Amino acid sequence: MNKLPRSAYIHIPFCHRRCFYCDFAVIPLGNNIETLNGYGSKTVKEYLTFLNKEILSIKHKSPLSTIYIGGGTPSILNPLQIKDLINLFKENYGIDYGAEITMEVDPASFNEDDLHGFIKAGINRFSLGAQSFNNQILEQAGRRHFSKDVEKSCSWLKRVHDNGLIKSWSLDLIQNLPISSFKEWQEDLENSLKFCPPHISIYDLNIEPGTVFKKLVDLGKLSLPNDDDSFKNSELTNLLLRASGYSRYEISNYSLPGHHSRHNRVYWTGLGWWSFGQGSTSSPWGGEVYKTKN
Ligand code: SF4
Repeated sequence: MNKLPRSAYIHIPFCHRRCFYCDFAVIPLGNNIETLNGYGSKTVKEYLTFLNKEILSIKHKSPLSTIYIGGGTPSILNPLQIKDLINLFKENYGIDYGAEITMEVDPASFNEDDLHGFIKAGINRFSLGAQSFNNQILEQAGRRHFSKDVEKSCSWLKRVHDNGLIKSWSLDLIQNLPISSFKEWQEDLENSLKFCPPHISIYDLNIEPGTVFKKLVDLGKLSLPNDDDSFKNSELTNLLLRASGYSRYEISNYSLPGHHSRHNRVYWTGLGWWSFGQGSTSSPWGGEVYKTKN
């Protein structure tokens, strides 16, 4: 038998609503899902039951060195639900000492107590989907959060990192969003650097079929940076981040020394990984195994 995967991706597909650029496998639940007292909405509970079965269904399991809980919006789950998931892996696969356990969080879906709960549950790295610090840009992109939410989340993450409670964290931005010209992008980068995130992911906006943005583009109603502006934005990104000590280790990923994502690297180095949940893709032995988005 080939070497067994040492990494697992878990997809939590729930979001409060769908952002205007997003074509991911997402289940929008609205604003009123109950998560803090008890175990969330019925849909979330049912999904977790199936997810558990899927995780247990793998016949040959081996201890994991990276786990990545992505979405969707995993921070819609409460800390107990995250703990249960991690314990499931601990008890059935084993988790290596020093394993990297990452969770994506959305600025409008967790508070400082939740953050400490996630850390107690075993998360040691976070990826914050900030996208921008500019309220107008966030609103145009259909995001639920505001600049103040991003700032608060960054301060909490910086504090727990400075206090040694987590190994690392990442701030995620989207480059070339509507109405983000050179000036706004420079402000976004400078605002990000104020919090010294050890890792920054910068994704270029893609206009995907079926999204609100695609409809607006077709109607000629979306103002996007042109090619020259995009080029200048990219140059600025490289210049500013390099000058601040970051190295670009993958196309969208920049890190300070020692803070690259070990889980990301698994995807590019040919090592296999398990993937659990809706719309996720496993690659246990080199070939890819797709699951449906629905
Ligand atoms: S929060 Fe992320 S996954 Fe959810 S709709 Fe927005 S971009 Fe898509």
